[in-house]
Amino acid sequence: MTPRIVILGRPNVGKSTLFNRLAQRKIAIVDDTPGVTRDRKEVPGRIGGRDVLLVDTAGLEEAPPDTVAGRMRASSEAALRAADLVLFVVDARAGLTPADRAFAAWLRRADLPVLLIANKAEGRGGAAAAMEAYELGLGDPIAVSAEHNEGLGSLHEAVAEALGEAPEEEDVGDEDDPDRPLRLAIVGRPNAGKSTLLNALLGEERMITGPEPGLTRDSVAVQWQDAVGRIRLVDTAGMRKKARIEEKLEQMSVASTLGALKEAEVVILVVDALLGMDEQDLRIARLAEREGRAVVIAFNKWDAVEDRAATRRKLDDVLMASLAQLKGIAVVPLAARTGRGVDKLMPAVRATHALWNRRIGTGELNRWFEGALARHPPPAVEGRRIKLRYATMPKARPPTIAIFGTRAEDLPEDYRRYLVNAFREAFDMPGVPIRLQLRGTK
Ligand code: GDP
Ligand code: GDP
Repeated sequence: MTPRIVILGRPNVGKSTLFNRLAQRKIAIVDDTPGVTRDRKEVPGRIGGRDVLLVDTAGLEEAPPDTVAGRMRASSEAALRAADLVLFVVDARAGLTPADRAFAAWLRRADLPVLLIANKAEGRGGAAAAMEAYELGLGDPIAVSAEHNEGLGSLHEAVAEALGEAPEEEDVGDEDDPDRPLRLAIVGRPNAGKSTLLNALLGEERMITGPEPGLTRDSVAVQWQDAVGRIRLVDTAGMRKKARIEEKLEQMSVASTLGALKEAEVVILVVDALLGMDEQDLRIARLAEREGRAVVIAFNKWDAVEDRAATRRKLDDVLMASLAQLKGIAVVPLAARTGRGVDKLMPAVRATHALWNRRIGTGELNRWFEGALARHPPPAVEGRRIKLRYATMPKARPPTIAIFGTRAEDLPEDYRRYLVNAFREAFDMPGVPIRLQLRGTK
């Protein structure tokens, strides 16, 4: 049976926007005519690689907004009870309202499977704004921006996890299954050498399957085996190029790159060494970081570079200045066309993937944490001390540290950066995004 997913939340938090993002085709679910009772709509969507039915609960908003009972009209309640998963949406910008708390309390009591979505969390302050939603007691909020298409990768992952095993033909395997293929994407500007690299990689390896449908619409995937295990290459624009030559003339499509990033665990960013790393490359790298993906740079066309030392130095400068979030990112100089250096690429991908997957025990983590606090105590904010108590690692993929303490959420940005960098150094995690969650305790 196709799982049913209900999107719930008070008016204006962005449910329709999210609905349209997740639906397979754009549909108008907004009807501004007052007094028109809308039918509850079920629309096919695809989330986390699975076909789902998205259920619109617009009806909830038309009930008298003053009582919980009013909001939870019988029909809507029935829709909720029939749901396999509820996406409960709050507005990270506006902050929590009594209506949000009332919905949350109801959901907790009803004991429904719920994912908490903090929408409108775009841009730099977004993740921090989403933290407030922890208070609702519905688990970790997933920070997204439905409108700006940010954080949706995490949402897809969380939904896939909540719904359980994906259908057989997807063959993405269990997270803990050592035979699970590593999901890889090759991205980069047109002409950077993505298809040449793919051919070079596959030339050395045993291909398991040819191009087959990928996890999302319009994507293709290919599987092969390297020395360590299976690899599933997802959504490579290069593979579709033959059919769509005109794509080459256009700018790199952000949408298609984003699609690839969402499906991948590790991203190979192919950079043309003759041109150097430019704004467009940085943009892709930042997108990957924001989606929580590990990144390895294939510094291609190395054969044609005249001054290698200067070219490498220039790249390191750009990375240092403009990509601090992925400090220490692996760079593999290679020539896809001649095959030179290509053998170094997959080992780098495997190493980065292992770091991205790494879990650190609470004991070890807190020994580091105490040391980091002692070396550089948190600053007072508005004359009041911030007392940090302990750290946990609630998840890997990407590595995520949760820090608990009094007014932890008030920690200034530079101190957060200090903690992330200290963590990265202590546990030797170059090139992977690291997430910090701050949780205030009373
Ligand atoms: P609904 O009433 O919950 O269905 O909310 P809508 O989807 O109609 O969105 C309400 C308003 O929030 C609209 O003006 C949207 O453009 C805006 N909105 C939706 N998602 C986002 C987002 O991620 N960021 C920001 N800043 N605004 C958003
Ligand atoms: P894509 O658009 O990223 O898939 O790029 P292609 O793989 O089609 O390569 C674009 C151009 O760069 C082609 O003319 C390739 O022959 C060239 N190219 C790719 N790899 C290398 C390389 O390692 N060295 C040199 N000199 N040229 C390369």
